[in-house]
Amino acid sequence: MVNKVYLVTPRGFCAGVEMAIKALSWMLKIYDETIYCYHEIVHNKWIVNKFEGHNVVFVEDPSEIPEGAIVMLSAHGTSPNVENRFNEKATLTINSVCPLVTKVHHEAKKYTDQGAQIIYVGHKGHDEALGAIGVSPDNMHLVENIDDVENLNLQGETALLAQTTLAISEWEPIMNHSKKKYPNLSMPRKSDLCYATTNRQSAIVEILNKVNSVLVVGSENSSNTKALVEMVKSNGCDAHRIENVDDLTDLNLNGNIAITAGASAPDHLVFEIIDHLNANDLIEFNHINEEEYFPLPKELRNNVKTISNFLEHLCIHDEYPKKLKVSIMIENGQLLKL
Ligand code: SF4
Repeated sequence: MVNKVYLVTPRGFCAGVEMAIKALSWMLKIYDETIYCYHEIVHNKWIVNKFEGHNVVFVEDPSEIPEGAIVMLSAHGTSPNVENRFNEKATLTINSVCPLVTKVHHEAKKYTDQGAQIIYVGHKGHDEALGAIGVSPDNMHLVENIDDVENLNLQGETALLAQTTLAISEWEPIMNHSKKKYPNLSMPRKSDLCYATTNRQSAIVEILNKVNSVLVVGSENSSNTKALVEMVKSNGCDAHRIENVDDLTDLNLNGNIAITAGASAPDHLVFEIIDHLNANDLIEFNHINEEEYFPLPKELRNNVKTISNFLEHLCIHDEYPKKLKVSIMIENGQLLKL
């Protein structure tokens, strides 16, 4: 029997995920053709299924798209080599990478240009890690734990970068060990762990003394969701990742529960779970308000602006057709006219 549910803020969508979802939604509005998206646009099953039902095909390699396709690159960032391969085949490629991932790509390039060997803390096989390492594959060394750092034998200048969505509890020991092993290690002034990752983790840690268990809503392949679970467990509290309300049947929850969500989990899934828990009390726990906002990718912004201007023009002249069929001409990847 669940007594109290603490609903933790911030949780769920971050600015990068919101931007990527909006960008792909706009692509569907603008173009009639199938949109090919490199990697899941964000790591959430519900969202991916929704887009698959609306003419989006998710691919893992440029070889999977037809010549002349329209392509979107996911929020996790794409290696320059893979992006070039998409550009060679696609009519149009829009990159919805989160600006905070782009920051890490810039840092990787900067340290490489300075001749440094880069230790990159991340998860093997994760889309973001693959994209970042691809910026400088000969100079970047992926580590997942302290043993991996121990096994490195780097000479000369060294630098340390990280996947944006790590648990603070996994990042800090690796960072400290790396600094000890390489005393002249360079690091970015501002942490690579993004605001959304750290805010969600510090919020959940603050509520732990009031609860018996924590539910983290998010998909299995969502790194920041797994980091939230890891963070709670490393603080000695019971934690469960759940995809949706169906996963509650396997759990035997009692007492007070906190509920949060990874940065790519839609909030309606959280509220369905709360309804199902049917607790005596629902208490909102607000740790911090987030105001970050990331605009749409520039190329897409331009196209959206052109369409808006066109529609405005039609409205001014009272010629707004009931069913407007927007046809779009594209040349060199840019929208020319309607
Ligand atoms: Fe960007 Fe952080 Fe959101 Fe990833 S979790 S999309 S890095 S804001």
